[in-house]
Amino acid sequence: MHPFSYTKPSDTREALKAGRRGGRYIAGGTTLVDLMRETVERPETLVDISGLPLREVTVTERGGLRIGALVSMAETAANPKVRTLYPVISQSLELSASAQLRNMATIGGNIMQRTRCTYFRDVTAACNKREPGSGCAAREGFNRTHAILGTSDDCVATHPSDVAVAFAALEATVHLLGPDGGRRIPFADFHLRPGGTPNREQVLRKGELITAVEVPAYPRPLKSGYLKVRDRQSYEFALTSAAVALHVRGGVIREAKVAAGGVGTVPWKLPEVERALVGERPSDQLWARAAESAADGALPLAHNRFKMELLKRTVERQLRIVGDSK
Ligand code: SF4
Repeated sequence: MHPFSYTKPSDTREALKAGRRGGRYIAGGTTLVDLMRETVERPETLVDISGLPLREVTVTERGGLRIGALVSMAETAANPKVRTLYPVISQSLELSASAQLRNMATIGGNIMQRTRCTYFRDVTAACNKREPGSGCAAREGFNRTHAILGTSDDCVATHPSDVAVAFAALEATVHLLGPDGGRRIPFADFHLRPGGTPNREQVLRKGELITAVEVPAYPRPLKSGYLKVRDRQSYEFALTSAAVALHVRGGVIREAKVAAGGVGTVPWKLPEVERALVGERPSDQLWARAAESAADGALPLAHNRFKMELLKRTVERQLRIVGDSK
């Protein structure tokens, strides 16, 4: 591990000052410390924000939810408001990582986590994300777990977060605070597709801090849930996943929110699937028809073509599970 300095500001103003000077924010540290040990990340200064007052889950005036950036994954999953209003969030968190990691890792850190591409974590391999211009070992290498959507010539790594898929489906907003004030970013715009600069992963400006993720209110009842398909049933990243939320009234689907994980370079919203559902009556035929477009635009690699069919089946199955639930 490379030498670094460490500071723990007592308030947000001090944290932002340290961030503006180039310090790297750390809270749970479950990704960053690993990457520092592997010398993939070499920050000069760590700014420990774990003492900042960003640990609340509150219902907003409009009936949505605001989840503080420092609320742990475990606390968020267990929160009664989250469980009642948006089961898809709780389920996505409970299917992530391990119990120990969920106790440490925060919501802000979770949506900032870096890819699990093995070449990214191997400092002897070519990787444009870790070292711009060095190449992409995954393109010609073993790419079974890599992305089929949103890829570029320069990078085909998946985004690893589960709860980010739920936030993408629900069209959440990320609240940021920086040296120049606050701003709100729609979740769909927060993560950047790799293009020619896979080293740039989010829209954050220098010194900006995530303060909360806000989930909008939806008409009730809103049925929702998360399905994750993986090589083993615990402590594993998604091969494919689906976050689904449906509002059905009078036997007709009025709102449909759907996103996929394990397949995109960013959490992957599925607007075509949503369009196919709204205004229709729930049925097995509808779930199958709507899921047909889930892999549209996919560009599979040598070892991950299977994800195209698996994605459609994952989406169809989760539509059925949520649609048929009481
Ligand atoms: Fe690096 Fe992206 Fe290629 Fe993986 S897929 S080796 S992260 S450039």
